[in-house]
Amino acid sequence: MNWFYVDAGQQAGPVDDAQLEALARSGKVQADTLVWREGMADWQPYRQAKSAASAAAAPASAQAGDAPTETTREAVCVECGRIFSMDDMIRHEQGYVCANCKPVFMQKLKEGAKVGTGGWTYAGFWIRFAAVFLDGLILGAVNFAIGMVAGLSAGQAIGAEPTAALALQLVLILVQLAIGIGYETFMIGKYGATLGKMACKIRVVTADGEPVTYLRAFGRYFGKMLSYFTCSIGFIMAAFDDQKRGLHDHICNTRVIYQN
Ligand SMILES: [Zn+2]
Repeated sequence: MNWFYVDAGQQAGPVDDAQLEALARSGKVQADTLVWREGMADWQPYRQAKSAASAAAAPASAQAGDAPTETTREAVCVECGRIFSMDDMIRHEQGYVCANCKPVFMQKLKEGAKVGTGGWTYAGFWIRFAAVFLDGLILGAVNFAIGMVAGLSAGQAIGAEPTAALALQLVLILVQLAIGIGYETFMIGKYGATLGKMACKIRVVTADGEPVTYLRAFGRYFGKMLSYFTCSIGFIMAAFDDQKRGLHDHICNTRVIYQN
């Protein structure tokens, strides 16, 4: 069945049933968008044409005594594309979701499929955890190598001198800190992602989706330390934030999103 619909004041189409439903799901065709197909006397709002079509297809399922009135405010479910009264639907940003689809829809949101205002997808807690974990392995290996070299080369000289051993420990800690800061600042500032984040196909941007400067990347490192010193609550916050922000993202106004 070929449908025509009104798009920005212009007639568009023809599209088949499935395409029309897809358009309705995407919000291109709204409940009050005028549609027409051969056999219809006049253009009708999508919700009316749709309920007429489904009533014709399955007359047994027509709601007895519950005929939809034209004054009922109806909307297209963004999940299944069917039409329901707005009273029975939940609103999410520009779209509506029916009661049937609500669990599926909420699950999708939870899985980090939430799409930001700029069209990007925020990276959820677990993928970020994986990236941080990978970076930890990389930095751990580097630090281990440095520690080994320093220990072996200084081992003879230090001997059984406890203060010298302590001083070496202190220097190593400072070196590791400097490596950590340098790694994050350079990689995020230059590429928008550490090696771990690159492997997980995620990157850090500002709230507007712009690249993060070296200065912001530098500040973000200390924000992350704060997240770490709050027993990692700062990291876990990302799991519950609507834009998947950790404490350090709140402080530095950054977001972690999927590449592309
Ligand atoms: Zn639905």
